[in-house]
Amino acid sequence: MGAVLMSAISEEKYMSISPAEFFYKYREVAGFANPVKAFYQVVKELIDNALDATDMHGILPDVKISIEKADEVQEYYKITVEDNGIGIPPDVVPYAFGKVLFSSKYVMKQSRGMYGLGVKMVVLYAQMTTGRPVEVITSRENYRMIYYFKLRIDINKNEPVIIERGAWRKTRDWHGTVVSVTIEGDWGRAKQRILEYLSRTSIITPYANITLITPENEIIHYSRVTNAMPKPPRESKPHPRGIDLEMFKTLINNNGNGEEPVEEFLTSNFQSIGPSTARAILNLAKIDPYKKLHELTESEIQRLFNIIKSYDKYKPPSATSLSPLGREVLEAGLKRIFEPEFLYAVTRSPRSYEGNPFIVEAAISYGGNTPMSPQEQPIILRYANRVPLIYDESTDVVTQVVKEDVNWESYMISFPAPLAIVVHICSTKIPFKGVGKESIADIPEIRREVKLAIMEVTRELKRYLVKKVKEKEVMRRVEILAKYIPEVARSLAIILGDNSSKNRIEAALTRKLIEYVSRRSNVSVEIVNSIVKSVKIGV
Ligand code: ADP
Ligand code: MG
Repeated sequence: MGAVLMSAISEEKYMSISPAEFFYKYREVAGFANPVKAFYQVVKELIDNALDATDMHGILPDVKISIEKADEVQEYYKITVEDNGIGIPPDVVPYAFGKVLFSSKYVMKQSRGMYGLGVKMVVLYAQMTTGRPVEVITSRENYRMIYYFKLRIDINKNEPVIIERGAWRKTRDWHGTVVSVTIEGDWGRAKQRILEYLSRTSIITPYANITLITPENEIIHYSRVTNAMPKPPRESKPHPRGIDLEMFKTLINNNGNGEEPVEEFLTSNFQSIGPSTARAILNLAKIDPYKKLHELTESEIQRLFNIIKSYDKYKPPSATSLSPLGREVLEAGLKRIFEPEFLYAVTRSPRSYEGNPFIVEAAISYGGNTPMSPQEQPIILRYANRVPLIYDESTDVVTQVVKEDVNWESYMISFPAPLAIVVHICSTKIPFKGVGKESIADIPEIRREVKLAIMEVTRELKRYLVKKVKEKEVMRRVEILAKYIPEVARSLAIILGDNSSKNRIEAALTRKLIEYVSRRSNVSVEIVNSIVKSVKIGV
């Protein structure tokens, strides 16, 4: 028995693979499942990075995308994305593009990227389909030079391999980044998705100029319709509710030489812990506030951590690390695309889940060119940290709210209706269901806010619809009543035996009718007058 077990074990092959190899093998988890999805994902990752490099740093984005056929025979396409963003330091470029899980966005601050994976997946995909390296041109604001790199990823080592590099003098004041890759893909089938992604992106970035040139030489252009741009987010410290034991230990170990008193460590490393909260926590943990970090025993650290997690009097996480779009931007974007009859947007107050701050925004677009919803629910436009989510709609928390939590009939809406709902969730940590970042998990705190946001905008729509119905009804009555005015005036004049009073009576009745209408609706005096006149002419 023992021998059998031994040989079974010795047949196992143990090895470890690099992150690059892992994502190369399991690319579908990052959204690169097939040639259509991969094409879409390549364009999306590059544009997301371009926008992060601009609007998240207070720069109004100018983003140019070109997609061109790169081979006579093969379905090879060269995709180039240029931005006017902050640029990348030359010593960082090889890692930013050639080392999986390398990022400038692993900080407590809202951004489109979050895993340090996107552009490396793009480079890997290019490598495995066409074998061609990525090309990067970049410069920053105060640089005198523009830098050029051609590189690929060593998949086994998860390291960049620089194939070519260069630099030249700037002749004009340019900052930004140009990234080019060549992939094999199914443009014919990916095109619609990509156009959809662009149009949805333009809805919530109306302050951006975005231009796409397709392989057919079509130019699709979204020009800036507002200069109003949301305030960029600021990096924040972790909230004590959001940390785990491992993170806590790392913070302690990485804290200089360990000479810092534990009280100071707490106040300077976490948000929502001031001196009095620190004292209260240390008191509960029975630890001397002046004890130095390196003097803490393992069991003290554990105890302190437990108290930090269970303490319940913290201020909620601050939302300065978030950058919601705000009403003006949301409405400007929807107005451009749908020119709706009714439009309304809200930005809810910050909330948090597990120590992560989040804000939900919603907007509603009704009528005008808003498309008819095909099903028994409105068209849902989902966004997370300003990125449109297009795939996996059915498993997303927003879809669940729309389907299960909102009683549309009670808002006077019956489907099909020309109705679209935009929901934007921003957070330092969006609870995505996978690294493909297409659908958001059903976290109760988030679900509740999404529901409240949708209800808030839908209530406004209902108010508008009710008013519209009422005004229609009033108009109908005005028409009926107005028809009687000449007849009644004539009869009264006869009864009074004064034919000349007919016009005066008619004028008085018209005034009364206007009074009646203005008490009941917002229909203007001019409109009532014109109805009375037109009816009279009809008689
Ligand atoms: P993530 O976006 O999740 O951080 P990526 O692999 O897409 O991961 O990008 C890695 C890093 O490269 C980014 O964090 C950013 O610092 C840098 N980067 C990529 N593209 C650009 C760009 N167009 N402009 C400036 N920096 C960029
Ligand atoms: Mg990215």
